[in-house]
Amino acid sequence: MKKSYFTVGPSELYPTVKGHVLEAIEQQIGSLSHRGAKFEDIFSSAVEGMRRLLSIPEDYTIFFVSSGTEAMERTIENVVEKNSFHFVNGAFSKRFFDTALELGKHAEKIEVDLGQGFDLNNVRGVTRVKGSRQGTGIDLKDHSSEHLRDERAAGPQIPIDVELICFTHNETSTGVMLPAEQIAKIKQAYPDKLIAIDIVSSAPYAHIDFAKADIVFFSVQKGFGLPAGLGVMVVSPKALEKAGFLQQHGNYIGTYHNFPTLKKWADKNQTPETPSVFHLFLLSKVVEDMLTIGIDTIRQQTDEKAKLLYDFFDKHSSWNSFVEDKTFRSPTVIVANIGIDQKRLKEYLKKEHIIIGSGYGPNKDTQIRLANFPALPIPDIKKLLALLKKFQ
Ligand SMILES: *Cc1c(COP(=O)(O)O)cnc(C)c1O
Repeated sequence: MKKSYFTVGPSELYPTVKGHVLEAIEQQIGSLSHRGAKFEDIFSSAVEGMRRLLSIPEDYTIFFVSSGTEAMERTIENVVEKNSFHFVNGAFSKRFFDTALELGKHAEKIEVDLGQGFDLNNVRGVTRVKGSRQGTGIDLKDHSSEHLRDERAAGPQIPIDVELICFTHNETSTGVMLPAEQIAKIKQAYPDKLIAIDIVSSAPYAHIDFAKADIVFFSVQKGFGLPAGLGVMVVSPKALEKAGFLQQHGNYIGTYHNFPTLKKWADKNQTPETPSVFHLFLLSKVVEDMLTIGIDTIRQQTDEKAKLLYDFFDKHSSWNSFVEDKTFRSPTVIVANIGIDQKRLKEYLKKEHIIIGSGYGPNKDTQIRLANFPALPIPDIKKLLALLKKFQ
């Protein structure tokens, strides 16, 4: 019997994927030359579809890479010479920060506990005190007085010489979503800085104002309901310019997937390497399906389903939502504390052909994570809720 995957990635496939896979086989997509006109059509249909679905400006370029994790590395490599700054509140934002450290950058972070968001309305730019350490992670929360002036000021502090500010819009490990309009305001306050936003587990729901961001990326095995193996990066002219500048000044920015090379090929509706043509085909088709439904409807349905789930946990006698502050509750990844019931509940649902995710890290055995992606329609959510209610 077919299972329902409420896992946060890989996730339930979008209902139309099966038909598109068959069509791909029939059209012999797997044997197409990636330098031919038919491939260019697939590439451009994926790109133009995404532009319309997510309202991506014409002057932003869309690149295809292999994963969300690759997108983090490409981001840091291509636009950071020395200093990046990271908002860290879980496993994926930490991965972004660690990537910068591993690439030898001077990465700094503000870190809050799992399940928390940030006071983004009170971000302040601060001057760095001379002699800050290079290549080490500096936790501004714990050591701000060591390195920064104005340590008494409330709210996150960003050193003014930071080149790139990195956000994880939806922290999949904890179910915290940062308000997109607050992230957009950071660009307004610091127009000279580049802004990177990981929307891996919030796309296509995420309502991003691309004009207020420079690099936005996601992979397709979460909200787009496709098999894993394809990452998408949306890159601003300013970020491209920075990558070109770094390259001209002798900085290493990667090889085949550096921004100038990706851009050169993207302009021809092609990729530097032989890509997963199959994935691009499936993505173009699913994006078309989503356009038919309409992004507003998809967002509305996501909110509606999220409300059903959060209401259930709020009313439950012993279980509760992990994220207490409602401004940060993710509509796409719902995390609940269910304590000692967890293992038994997972088994119980499995017998009913429903697969759910465990908690992350220290909460692995006491929390559940539920994906609320477009591939799971309202009846599936209602079926899950009925079973959760029945579970004793
Ligand atoms: C899953 C995930 C990633 C990693 O993406 P991959 O495609 O698995 O490399 C990065 N960031 C977030 C927020 C994620 O949920």
